[in-house]
Amino acid sequence: MRTPVIAGNWKMYKTPDETLRFVNEFLPRVAGVSDREIVICPAFTSLAAAVAAIKGSHVAVGAQDLHWEEEGAFTGEVSPLMLTGVGCRYAIIGHSERRAYFGETDNLVNTKTRSALKHGLIPIVCVGETLDQREKGVTEEVCRRQLEGGLCELAPSEIAGLVIAYEPVWAIGTGRTATPGDAQSVVGFIRGEIGRLFGPEAAAAVRIQYGGSVKPDNIKALMAEPDIDGVLVGGASLNPESFAAIVNFA
Ligand code: PEP
Repeated sequence: MRTPVIAGNWKMYKTPDETLRFVNEFLPRVAGVSDREIVICPAFTSLAAAVAAIKGSHVAVGAQDLHWEEEGAFTGEVSPLMLTGVGCRYAIIGHSERRAYFGETDNLVNTKTRSALKHGLIPIVCVGETLDQREKGVTEEVCRRQLEGGLCELAPSEIAGLVIAYEPVWAIGTGRTATPGDAQSVVGFIRGEIGRLFGPEAAAAVRIQYGGSVKPDNIKALMAEPDIDGVLVGGASLNPESFAAIVNFA
């Protein structure tokens, strides 16, 4: 039985004060939830405020990225030791915005994923095709390449402990969601690929999220699909009411 994981990616939004206000409004709305994991991923500068504010609740905090080294001369970067030190439990890795604007490659995703696992962070590894790739009919090929590159040299037992987010790039921030059937089709393919690469036990255990314009009105249909184990939410996770409505899907 895979526990659903609902994560909010706040991107470059919210100061520490705004983070505090969000958490104070959000926590009472999700107080009764115990059968799913809830994660908020603020900017680095708001991680400490978020960790302090969620203390004693069942909400966890994640980072949106990490450097792979523990320390060193890497100006502007944040290490896994710093993230665990502040109280982070998750780290998003290889988000399409980082791939598109900061040149992140599958090789880098692999290095960061291995580092996150080594330091006890749960990686949320993002994969997904662009609109052009979907229209060319190479969605599965793209996801296969991202999985093979991003997860290479991991042990099957490590795969079971990570989260994969299938995020079609054309659905991110566009209001254009993949239909539940389309999302299931690619997520099912990803699970099959994990089975091919790491064996049936890893495939059965790994949690795979869908991400791309998830809203309170489409969460239920997405979560009804057999292979979708949660969602990674951008825009709709910035508002405590809408994120709580997503978390509380029936
Ligand atoms: C995201 O940033 O990962 C995302 C899915 O964004 P949105 O929900 O706004 O499409």
